[in-house]
Amino acid sequence: MPNILVSNIGFGETSLASLEVLKSIGNVVLNKKGIRFNEQDFIEKISDTDILIAGTEKITRSVIGAAKNLKLIARVGVGVDNIDLDCALENKISICYTPDVPSESVPEFTISLMLNLIKGIAVSNQKMHEKVWHRPMGRMLSSMKIGIVGAGKIGSKVISLIKSISPKTEILFYDPYLESKEQTVKRDIEQLFHESDIVSLHLPLNDQTSGLVDNRLLGLMKKRSYLINTSRGGIVDETALYQALANNHLAGAAIDVFENEPYNGPLTELDNCLLTSHIGSLAQEVRAIMEDQVVEDVRRFIGGQFLIRPLDGFNFSGQQA
Ligand code: NAD
Repeated sequence: MPNILVSNIGFGETSLASLEVLKSIGNVVLNKKGIRFNEQDFIEKISDTDILIAGTEKITRSVIGAAKNLKLIARVGVGVDNIDLDCALENKISICYTPDVPSESVPEFTISLMLNLIKGIAVSNQKMHEKVWHRPMGRMLSSMKIGIVGAGKIGSKVISLIKSISPKTEILFYDPYLESKEQTVKRDIEQLFHESDIVSLHLPLNDQTSGLVDNRLLGLMKKRSYLINTSRGGIVDETALYQALANNHLAGAAIDVFENEPYNGPLTELDNCLLTSHIGSLAQEVRAIMEDQVVEDVRRFIGGQFLIRPLDGFNFSGQQA
C-alpha cells in the first residue's frame, strides 16, 4: 500500500468516513503535532511518502527534494501558492485540489468582516470586555462604494451577497481577465482604490500580484476607507498597511491571511485592524466536503484513474502510486 502523509492539520475530524477510506487504501501518517509543518518537519517525515495531503504549509524545493517517492500532492483547499510548482512539474508530481468548495464559505466570511468593520462590532466587543462603554459610530453599506479586486468564484459571490443585502450599494471591480460582471462597473486598479470606501481582495497570489497592494495603492485610497484581505497575505505589503492604519489614513482593515503564518507581527498592535487566523473557508460543512473530495481523488490516483480535480498542467495520473 502507498504511504500517505497528511500534513494538513485536523484532517479526518469532520469526515471520519473519508479518513476510514484513506486508511483502507494506504499507510496513513497524520499530523499529530496539531501545528503547521515547517520545512524541517517535512524533511524528517517525507522521505518514503508517495502521496501528500496538504493544507497551506510551504512545500518548497527542499521538501520536494527530500520526497523521492512523491507522486501526488492533494491540496485541501484552493490556493496552490504554497507549493513550488516549477519543482513539482520538473518531478512530474500530480496535484489535485478542491477549487469550488471554499467559494461557498469565504464570501459569507468576507461579508461578516465587512459588516463587522463598518459597524465597529469588534471594537465595541473589545471595549466591553475591558469594562468600557464605548459606542463607535457605524456606516451603512447603502451609502458606500465597494471595490472588488478579482471577480472569480469568490469575488463574484461577494458581489451577489452585497447586492442581496444592500441593492443600493455601488460595486466596482477590477479583474484583468474579465470584461464585465453583471451590475458592476469595471475600473482600472488605481481608479478602484481611489474611489472605493471598501476594497476587498479576491485574487490569487503569483508573481504578478505579490506585493501588489503597496504604499502607492494604499495612498490612493480615500481617507477613512477600509481594506479587506481574505485572499493571500503576500498580496498586501504589511509594512505599508501598518503605516496606513497607524496614521489613520484608513479607518480600518480586516485581514485573514498573512505573508508568514501563523502571524504575530505588528498589525496585532493596532485596534483598527481586525485580525483572523486564516479561517475564511473554515466551516464544518465545507471542510467535510473538501476532505471527501481529496480522498476521492487520492483513491482514484491509487487506482490508476484520472483525477477529477487536477490542477491544470499537473495531471500525471495513470501512474500507479
Ligand atoms: P478564482 O481563480 O476563481 O478567482 C480569482 C480571480 O482573480 C480570477 O477571476 C482572476 O482573473 C483574477 N485575477 C488574477 N490576477 C489578477 C490581478 N492581477 N488583479 C485582479 N484580479 C486578478 O479564485 P477564487 O476561488 O475566487 O479565490 C480567490 C482568492 O481567495 C485566492 O487567493 C485564494 O487563494 C483565496 N482563498 C482564501 C481562503 C481563505 O481561507 N481565506 C480560502 C479559499 C481561497
